[in-house]
Amino acid sequence: MTDTASNIVDLSRMTHQQRAALPLSTEVAQVIAEQHGVCIRPLAMRRIDTTTGRVDIIPVPCGSTRQDQCRPCADKARRLRMAQCREGWHLDTEPVIKRATPSTEQQELMAARADLLLAYSQCRAAGDEDSCEQIADSVAELDGQLRALGVRGRLAPLDPAPKPVKRSTRRRQDAPNLPRRPVERRTLGQVFAGRYRPSTFVTLTLDSYGKVDAHGAAIDPDTYDYRRAARDAIHFPALVDRFWQNTRRCVGWDVQYFGTVEPQKRGAPHLHAAIRGTIPRAELRAITAATYHQVWWPPHDQQIYTQQRPPVWDTRAKTFTDPDTGVPLPTFDQACQELTEPAHVVRFGPQVHVKGILGGTEEAGRHIGYLTKYLTKSISHAAGLGEQATEAHREHARCLHAELLITPCSPRCPIWLLYGIQPHGARHSTTPGRCKGKAHKPEHLGIAGRRVLVSRKWSNKTLDDHRAERGQFVRQLLEQAGIHPAHGPQDGPYLWERTAPADPDIPPRPVLLMQAVAERQRWKAEYTAAQLAATGPPPDTNRSATFDQAA
Ligand SMILES: [Zn+2]
Ligand SMILES: [Zn+2]
Repeated sequence: MTDTASNIVDLSRMTHQQRAALPLSTEVAQVIAEQHGVCIRPLAMRRIDTTTGRVDIIPVPCGSTRQDQCRPCADKARRLRMAQCREGWHLDTEPVIKRATPSTEQQELMAARADLLLAYSQCRAAGDEDSCEQIADSVAELDGQLRALGVRGRLAPLDPAPKPVKRSTRRRQDAPNLPRRPVERRTLGQVFAGRYRPSTFVTLTLDSYGKVDAHGAAIDPDTYDYRRAARDAIHFPALVDRFWQNTRRCVGWDVQYFGTVEPQKRGAPHLHAAIRGTIPRAELRAITAATYHQVWWPPHDQQIYTQQRPPVWDTRAKTFTDPDTGVPLPTFDQACQELTEPAHVVRFGPQVHVKGILGGTEEAGRHIGYLTKYLTKSISHAAGLGEQATEAHREHARCLHAELLITPCSPRCPIWLLYGIQPHGARHSTTPGRCKGKAHKPEHLGIAGRRVLVSRKWSNKTLDDHRAERGQFVRQLLEQAGIHPAHGPQDGPYLWERTAPADPDIPPRPVLLMQAVAERQRWKAEYTAAQLAATGPPPDTNRSATFDQAA
């Protein structure tokens, strides 16, 4: 335990009266909760033991990944990502995907679902909307049952989306000029003498849009290319996808990665990635230089309409029209058919950092910390746009945001209407030029996709699997030491119910927080006892991290 531990209020050593006398303001309770690594804004859930009828109000953690919302939950989420990163980076045996064979119940439900789907398409063809609606309800119910039985993956939708417009071969210029090898079904790199597990750490950056100062602000905002910066940020995830495809084809094996997308100070996204196995530096550079992504969207350089003079929704024709002539605007797909060149092309910049890392070394641990360092911060905070940001830096972010407000983020984006194009899914409630997408929000700087990108066979586990495994580890340790949790396996099964703030049985928030703290302290004491019983020596930091993830 560190020095701060002496300041922590130890509730488990207090009498009930002492505990009741504590100043229970929400702030104090939050500080204590934070010191103990307990969620500071838990959800009060009602837990009903269906055997005994006992009802308890249980504080359930909020699960936020942002430390400005809930530091304990964000720290926990980050530690879980670190564990996921560590586990996959230097694997020395191929991960095996074990799929359970479907149970009879699952098969029967799937067969029933297929029958309903057929009936639905027949009713739809016959124009029988009432039956369609009934069938849709039944399918939704079946889907719920299938999910509850652990069926994963995509279930066929009732109304399949129309096939995308086929592009002419002329447009297929996406294959870069790289050596192409058939991709073998292995995910491990070379092993040297069966002892070393060399792996790779790579950082990919976007091109320069103009000179920036030490804080990341444009030196000359008039010549800084905010337009290209905004578009590159929005299409960065597609570029990264293409990079992994090209890498696999070029090296000839199923390369696995754990990557994080972070903003640079200038606001442009960049990618840090841990790659399992080694890829020669020159090869990675060649792949990066050859990788590009073409955006086959209609041109969006000249605004035709403004928010003051927007296109008008025609209720009868169910379409957006020109406010003066009443002529319907072309749809996104119509506008795409006439394209002869992409609206935008994204490429990486010349800066590529590649580093060889040996598994199990201190350096590997440091890079895992580096990869996950900013995950608990919002994009703009990670870019240094906090309270200490310079005025020039803020102005720079404002210019980038102004451009993002007129840059469409997807084929569904209502910003298309400013360019005279009806986006997918346009309706009477669509406001021209207003998109709720994350890409346009000031705190996202155009970086709207996932922050963590993990390939499927990295650790071969989902985040939930990792979480469950940690819990399992702690439970086993407790069991071996003969410690039984207060709620034993004989309790339950439980029913969980949401609560409303006005419910009379909901304790005030500070009490709920203290309840969570006391519970955690009890757990931690049991865990430490179990550890001592199992191993003897005092718990090391790694073990206590394990506890933190499980608790
Ligand atoms: Zn929380
Ligand atoms: Zn949008």
